[in-house]
Amino acid sequence: MNKKKRIMHVDMDAFFASIEQRDQPLLKGKPVIVGGEPGGRGVAATCSYEARKFGVKSGMPIALAVKKCPDGTFIRTNGKKYMYASMRVIEILNRYSPKVEPTSIDEAYLDVTGSVKDREDERKIGESLKREIRRELELTCSVGIASNRIFAKIATNMKKPDGLTIIADEELEKKIYPLPISELIGIGKKSEGILKNLGIKTIGDIAVYPENELERVLGVNGPLLSKLARGEGSDRVLAFDEEEEVKSIGSEHTLERDTCDENIINMILLKLSEKVGRRLRESRFAGRTVAVKFRYSDFSSFSKRCTYPFFVWEDNKIYSISKKLFYSVYKRTKKIRLLGITVSGVVKSYLNTNNNKIQTELFTNCNKSGKLLKTIDLLKDIHGEMAIARAAYLKIL
Ligand SMILES: [Mg+2]
Repeated sequence: MNKKKRIMHVDMDAFFASIEQRDQPLLKGKPVIVGGEPGGRGVAATCSYEARKFGVKSGMPIALAVKKCPDGTFIRTNGKKYMYASMRVIEILNRYSPKVEPTSIDEAYLDVTGSVKDREDERKIGESLKREIRRELELTCSVGIASNRIFAKIATNMKKPDGLTIIADEELEKKIYPLPISELIGIGKKSEGILKNLGIKTIGDIAVYPENELERVLGVNGPLLSKLARGEGSDRVLAFDEEEEVKSIGSEHTLERDTCDENIINMILLKLSEKVGRRLRESRFAGRTVAVKFRYSDFSSFSKRCTYPFFVWEDNKIYSISKKLFYSVYKRTKKIRLLGITVSGVVKSYLNTNNNKIQTELFTNCNKSGKLLKTIDLLKDIHGEMAIARAAYLKIL
């Protein structure tokens, strides 16, 4: 691991609520809860800092939020608007590093190693980035800079909203070690209990505890946590377009019997769409190009592809696009022997976050498709922002 890396974490403050306050100035300084209307069954996706004072939290059922904050303004989630704002934030972040990795709609990591010499530079770059986001988007964010992703995120959390926190490696003992172990990603409730029984309460306690003892009580995760606590967490930031070796995900099916029955053809297209969709989601990918290929019983083959301005990952969307493409080329009454669907131009998708509730609410409101819950469940399974922490997280939970 290169000890000299400097990683920046950027987290937009109360993102959805701040966007609504910006767009409706009368709401500035007032409690705003985005996620659902009173009487609805949704959950609060984001609430303004004013609403938080009433005890409203993201993930809280709207009905409860109404009880806690009856005078709050409740606004339905407007996914498209927030996604657009998110893209504009990323545009700004791209000015500061070629390596920007969004991990959710309102969070990203930047490798700023190449842009900073010292702490002074780090402060300047952090302030400048915050200034541009405020000037161009009228939004604030909190920023943390440290030697790896976990500590950068911890730094961000130290001062919110509108914070800028820099942690130099020499300051780990002073600033990181006193924090409770729950701050360390990968610690589940169960492990927390086990560690507390051993008298381990802080990140520093883990850092100095014998690694083999931790291994004895926590298995392979013990040494992993020990490394994270000592600052050996991942410092890898992957730019948006360099994430994947995978360039496309596809699936094809040869029919048992050649057919021109459109019901059967549609059913196969649907099955293929589900398969490709699932594989995209499993790998946290989304793609912009959808291609359909098919072969007639005389073995002549055809394909049709189209690239869209949006990303697809959902079964229904892949299915409707594939059908459109297929029937634009298919000569009806000619028998088909093979069908295939490929999604390419894939990049790591946004559909990964540390706060599934926010994301759930956003995409639920964006799209009422019945397949969505399945998608979201899958996304929850994939939760995690770093390979090393992800493995730990899944095992420890
Ligand atoms: Mg945020």
